[in-house]
Amino acid sequence: MSAGDEGELTLTVRMRVSPEPEQEEAILDLMRRYRDALNYSIRVIIANKALSLNKAHRLLYKELRERYGLSSAIAVGCYREAIAIAKSWLRNPKRGAMPTTRRLSMWLAHELGYRVKGDYVELIGGYRLRVIGWDRRYDDFPNRDARLVFRDGEFTLYVAKRVPRPAKYAPKGVLAVDVNERQIVVGNSRVEIRVETPVERALHYRRLAERLQEKYSSTRYNAWLRRNGIRKRVRYFHRKAKNIIEDWARRTAHTIISLAKQSKLAVAREDLTGLIESLRRLPKGHRTALVMLGYRRLGYWLDWQAEKNGVPLFVVDPAGTSSTCPRCGAELVEAGHRRLRCPRCGLEADRDTIAILNIEGRALSKMGGTLTSPTAPQVTDVSPNRWGEPVNRPKGTLAL
Ligand SMILES: [Zn+2]
Repeated sequence: MSAGDEGELTLTVRMRVSPEPEQEEAILDLMRRYRDALNYSIRVIIANKALSLNKAHRLLYKELRERYGLSSAIAVGCYREAIAIAKSWLRNPKRGAMPTTRRLSMWLAHELGYRVKGDYVELIGGYRLRVIGWDRRYDDFPNRDARLVFRDGEFTLYVAKRVPRPAKYAPKGVLAVDVNERQIVVGNSRVEIRVETPVERALHYRRLAERLQEKYSSTRYNAWLRRNGIRKRVRYFHRKAKNIIEDWARRTAHTIISLAKQSKLAVAREDLTGLIESLRRLPKGHRTALVMLGYRRLGYWLDWQAEKNGVPLFVVDPAGTSSTCPRCGAELVEAGHRRLRCPRCGLEADRDTIAILNIEGRALSKMGGTLTSPTAPQVTDVSPNRWGEPVNRPKGTLAL
């Protein structure tokens, strides 16, 4: 999913589909040929710098049709996808080996490559897949291009839709999001909620994968390593770790955006680019990689869910959010484990609470006079005693 043009959003509707039993093998065969053709096309495009549709067409079309037996529309989809993959690989300054794909995933142009008819998806070439279930909320919007994926024994069709971008409401206040390695804190000067990150849980699977890899990477085990079973298990553990992070990021973002929408609040998050960059410079451990992934995915889903739900979102400068006083701007000093105190005005609070209040304050000042409610929480309105007494702040944990 990604944000589209100004007036519209592109979103993806997931359809579970199932081929007619007698066609299943033929569809899988088509998808394997597509994958092989795609890997071949990527190599040809990179070798010849054929990044335009014209060039790629001239170099590949005939071969994709004849050698890989792809129909016209699918062949065109195949080199288009190859161009996109080649471009992103060439753009990456730290690119490794030439990209190859193992997934069974086939790009389908709308109308030319596939169409949805009643309860069936028809692919070009006379293949039919029964639609088992899908999200019907977007049925009124026309289908765009789609992708057929076969994974873990199931077929899924991901259909792109263009939907109007919802209008944003005028916020009555701010819900700030602060992330750190162990948890994220969501709140403002009235509420505060803490959510654990799943980094430890995901790390468990990364370690299992690593242990397997280490064990079977000695030359003694070369024959073993080549055995599909081990490679599959290593991949499974890596994927499991990634999925844990992804699920958490998506659900957490959804919960935060729903909370904001209910109370007509804007969401404010820090610009994490700098943080991710500095983590990148650390020695690459599994933990660092997972923490980075979590930050990036949470940011992505927050932005996306905010767009989709018409929730105003502010990205604020992260500099000093957990070291300056949210009330008077002075440099804070340590006052115990994860607690900070302001030597100038006496404010004392937990480090994460300080960050939340600073993020809230920065978003409020970005919003300027757009608050619709005069009673909206303002950092400067709160009495010093309350800051020093976190007990007064309603706290809870989100059921995720
Ligand atoms: Zn102060």
